[in-house]
Amino acid sequence: MKNKILLVEDSPVVLKVLRYLVSQNDLFMPVLAKCYADAQECLEAHSGDFFAAVVDLNLPDAEHGEVVDLVLDKQIPCIVLTGNFDDDLRLKLLNKGVVDYITKDSRYSFNHVMKVLDRLEKNRRIKVLVAEDSSTSRLFIKILLQQYQFQVLEAENGQEALAILEQDSHIRMLITDYNMPLINGYDLVRMLRHNERFKDLVIIGLSAEGDSSLSAKFIKSGANDFLKKPFYHEEFHCRVNHNIEAQEMLQTIRDLANIDPLTKLYNRRFLFTEGESLYQKSIASDRVLSVVMLDIDFFKRVNDTHGHLIGDALLLEFSAYLVSVFPDEMISRFGGEEFCVLISTESSELTIQRFEAFLSEIKKMTFTENKITITCSGGMNCDMQPTLSQAIEIADERLYTAKNTGRDKFIFE
Ligand code: GH3
Ligand code: MG
Ligand code: MG
Ligand code: MG
Repeated sequence: MKNKILLVEDSPVVLKVLRYLVSQNDLFMPVLAKCYADAQECLEAHSGDFFAAVVDLNLPDAEHGEVVDLVLDKQIPCIVLTGNFDDDLRLKLLNKGVVDYITKDSRYSFNHVMKVLDRLEKNRRIKVLVAEDSSTSRLFIKILLQQYQFQVLEAENGQEALAILEQDSHIRMLITDYNMPLINGYDLVRMLRHNERFKDLVIIGLSAEGDSSLSAKFIKSGANDFLKKPFYHEEFHCRVNHNIEAQEMLQTIRDLANIDPLTKLYNRRFLFTEGESLYQKSIASDRVLSVVMLDIDFFKRVNDTHGHLIGDALLLEFSAYLVSVFPDEMISRFGGEEFCVLISTESSELTIQRFEAFLSEIKKMTFTENKITITCSGGMNCDMQPTLSQAIEIADERLYTAKNTGRDKFIFE
């Protein structure tokens, strides 16, 4: 279902531009109101299902920003888009709880509104942990984060924060005070940064103290940013948003480098870097990591008969099924229609059985809207080799034996 965005604006031109921009985003649906009374009617009719509102302060039937209270009373995030440049009014409205105060001074103002709406929508899925011993300060930060639609968790000290972070791997940001009992903010950041699991956690340090070396200390220990209390509402939001966006960009770059765009599986580059390191860890801890190479039989015929697009769709469905059968293993697209699975193996018999079952399921399935049937061949290596590359080579030789001896079979020795 689309998120309804209430647009309250008396200028027909501005309303038209806003409606166009909002409807460009598939997640949003604009609802228009050209005066206070209209807005009131919309809010009563659809009460509860508005995701956010973008409002003008100066309306023919409410000239002093009354619409802001109307929207905030319904607990709807409110973005002010106005021609009014009054700084006192700006501060007053931000203190009241509007998400942002944007002036209509250029065409970029509209883009800014869209960026804020997009951010709010994404933030709903982002968990932020606030570690702060002062309950007043914690509540203040929580309210600011909730205005921006983040999911907020709270910890009263560093130790509690650590326990919560260890339990919940979905927390994306930590905002931490410096002076806290049990474990202080600085030690907390250092502990987290020494743990590989938290390398992507965005950390913002806070402190009320006058010590200016503290910010450097926080950043040197691994925090992404630092804020001195008391801070302004807008400064807080800018820092939080910039840091979240930077992390999202980093993730996008990583995905581009490591993920195959068609199948969304890992690519070959990732297999030879991260896979190799996983392989070496298995050697070090005396565990068996088997390497399985799978290749779809006569895939060229699928393209020749049904076209390349259907071929792509088949690869996508095949990959999704492979992931559903082996959800815990590292699966990469090795080449066109060739896949590599790294699978922890306690019993090689069991692993062989699982792949033989996979091959026999594949045969019974139909793929894409053209209901194509396929078979698949596989080769496995389960005796640990000095490197992953060597193990892959052996699995690949076995795969080719499978190909040369009739296909639709799994060879493991
Ligand atoms: P074999 O049983 O020996 O594996 O035969 P095959 O036809 O599956 O293997 P071959 O290596 O001769 O051909 C692979 C084909 O896969 C050729 C290539 O066009 C196709 N292919 C590779 N990548 C893609 C892709 O991303 N999309 C589509 N649609 N086809 C692809
Ligand atoms: Mg404190
Ligand atoms: Mg093939
Ligand atoms: Mg091939």
